[in-house]
Amino acid sequence: MMAMTGDLFDVCVVGAGVEGSSAARYLASWGKNTLLLEQFPLPHCRGSSHGQSRLVRYGYSQSFLTAVMPEAFEMWSDIEKRAGRTLIRRCGLLTIEEPPYDDLSRVITNVRGVGQECLQLTGDEINKRFPGLSLSSSECGAFEPRSGLIQADLALTALREQFVEFGGTLHDAEKVLDIQPGSIISIKTNKNSYRAKRVIITAGPWTNNVLRPLGIQIPLTLQRITVCYWPVLSPHLYSPDKFPGFIFSSPLGNKNMHVYGFPMFEYPGLIKICPHAGVSIEDADNREGPSRGFDQNYIDSVAELIKARFPGVKPEPSITESCIYSVTPDHLFVMDRHPEYKNIVIGAGFSGHGFKMAPVVGRILTQMVLGEKVSYDVIPFRLSRFTSPKSSL
Ligand SMILES: Cc1cc2nc3c(=O)[nH]c(=O)nc-3n(C[C@H](O)[C@H](O)[C@H](O)COP(=O)(O)OP(=O)(O)OC[C@H]3O[C@@H](n4cnc5c(N)ncnc54)[C@H](O)[C@@H]3O)c2cc1C
Repeated sequence: MMAMTGDLFDVCVVGAGVEGSSAARYLASWGKNTLLLEQFPLPHCRGSSHGQSRLVRYGYSQSFLTAVMPEAFEMWSDIEKRAGRTLIRRCGLLTIEEPPYDDLSRVITNVRGVGQECLQLTGDEINKRFPGLSLSSSECGAFEPRSGLIQADLALTALREQFVEFGGTLHDAEKVLDIQPGSIISIKTNKNSYRAKRVIITAGPWTNNVLRPLGIQIPLTLQRITVCYWPVLSPHLYSPDKFPGFIFSSPLGNKNMHVYGFPMFEYPGLIKICPHAGVSIEDADNREGPSRGFDQNYIDSVAELIKARFPGVKPEPSITESCIYSVTPDHLFVMDRHPEYKNIVIGAGFSGHGFKMAPVVGRILTQMVLGEKVSYDVIPFRLSRFTSPKSSL
């Protein structure tokens, strides 16, 4: 259904990436008259949510992140059932770390703490179990058999389709230009003007542009991430039913950069192995801005890791693509009400972690905007942590 100029909504959600689409779906499923506005024609690949797969795992060293994952898996399962197609592949997830294994022991404690299996493996045990890896004997791993991958593009489509099925109004190719606060909020786009009792802003790397008329800015750094796919020389070692998703949680060499990856269900001849960091960019609308040459440093570092650790992978990428991370100074999200306008809620800074948790993020943002009690510990996600010296992070 199309909305008309002046229409009044219970909630308007700005940005139809995975976080905004999840929030909008949740609101519509609760019978809220919801408008979801997206600046680009859908589907698009200009923000952070597009692409083939994302890791979905329980294993975080921060217990408040692990705490949301059981419900996130449950909610993805419901979305999957309703969509009638597979979204999650449970190929397992291996976190690999060098001594002193600080993160690893917390990961294991946290995963087991939410009732999930998590095996502690030595480097030699990992090499035996997954011969596509060649770890040193000092490396250790935590293996979560029930974690795995989510098919990002399919999941995103399912969220948006279900939002519309639940009665939501989705307008793509419609950019929000201005938001005027009040008990009834005015939203001006390049095509129309609407009114809403509440607004959720989930504009990914464009968040500060949307927030400008509302008088606040979040310390977000935008990073262009080079997603690399490498040719597999020994496909039997890296087939998705035998090889897990993986994260090297110790920074690589002298670079402050982690590496992660997974086998490709869609293209069994390739494996995704990527840097979990990238080149800073000023503006999401000028993603290719700073010289492309800088990305080569990241690709070269990953190629070195492949030479040392992945005996059946050719250390020259056959495909590279771009995606954007929005990163806060502490690498944690922002999920909070606007400090002055309590009927405006912001969800931003989801960096390289936000996909897996999106259904729960959507629920939390909904609870915040409706003024309900929030189900989780959201203190680590407060906006005030960037301004208050008493921040309890
Ligand atoms: C390469 C890569 C790998 C990743 N891997 C993982 C992983 O393995 N596991 C995991 O959990 N997470 C992963 N992530 C992170 C996850 O994908 C992101 O955290 C998540 O997609 C962020 O979603 P978002 O909705 O906040 O942002 P976006 O997807 O960018 O959505 C924001 C939307 O708002 C729209 N918008 C902006 N301004 C306006 C406006 N003025 N008017 C209307 N619309 C507007 C944009 O067009 C965009 O569609 C990865 C991310 C990348 C880039």
